[in-house]
This record gives sequence, C-alpha cells and structure tokens, in this order.
Amino acid sequence: MSKALVLNATYEPLCVVPVRRAVVLVLKAKAEVLHAADRELHSEHTTMAVPSVIRLTYFVKVPFRARAALNRRAVFARDGNRCQYCGAAAENIDHVIPRSRGGLHIWENVVAACRPCNTRKEDHSVHEAGLVLRRRPSAPKELTWVIVAVGSVHPQWEPYLQAGAALSA
Ligand SMILES: [Zn+2]
Repeated sequence: MSKALVLNATYEPLCVVPVRRAVVLVLKAKAEVLHAADRELHSEHTTMAVPSVIRLTYFVKVPFRARAALNRRAVFARDGNRCQYCGAAAENIDHVIPRSRGGLHIWENVVAACRPCNTRKEDHSVHEAGLVLRRRPSAPKELTWVIVAVGSVHPQWEPYLQAGAALSA
C-alpha cells in the first residue's frame, strides 16, 4: 500500500495522499500517526513505520463539503456495482426519474442498474415499470470518494471512515 489516509484534527477524513507525503507531514510534526502498516521505511538518518492513517495536528477549515464528481465509476462504487432494482451485476447508469421527463443528472436521481432493468424502465417511472428501488440514492459519503480516489479501501482505514461519516451525517 503506497497511500495514506489523512484525517483532520477533528478526526474527519480529509484526503488520501502518497505515503511519501504522509511521512513528510509526520517528520515535520504536522501530523501524528494513528495507524502504521507493518512495514518500515529506512532513510539515511531514521527508520519509521510506514504510516497508513495520519491525523493533522492542526485544523484544516473545509469551507464547504464539495460534492463528489458524478460519473459512472463513482455511481458504481456508491452502489457496490449492483443493480439498485434487482441486485444483479450493474452495467448501466439509470435515471430514476427519466431525463425525458425532466429528471436531473444528479446523485439523488441516478443509480447503477443491470441491462434488463434499465431496458424495462426506459422512459417509465419506477412504479410504471413495476420496479422497486432498494434504497434512495444520495450523494456519497467519505467511503465512496476514497474508493473512487484509490480504487479500494484498506481494511485499516474503515473504522476511521465510518467515524467520519457518522460525524458529517
Ligand atoms: Zn436489475
């Protein structure tokens, strides 16, 4: 693993950085290591455990929580690559309220869908198509943007991300 999860001073997840950057922050006393991988980094002067989760020693003000970019990969990550109507492997992005009926291309109106459900739905409402949404789509929480940024979430990171999601929910 070559990335580290960075938490704000408040323990809220902020971003993911290369391990090298995390090491610099720790050496400059700008962050503390909350969780280290069981590998060690050796340099000329020092040996330290590879940081996996770090927490900034100062508070970074996040003026507003930017919404994650809406794209196919992000929607699939949020929905666990599963059709939100039947649970099969997802292949398409479906607009819950069809665009032909004024449905918007926003997080709250898009879901991952399998081809049969997507075809069955077409320009119909969920109800008209005889489908049931498994859950209401919403903008993703930290867990999803980390998955989108890095490709996967390291098990060591999960408790920190869940804590952050609870804080900002
Ligand atoms: Zn389906």
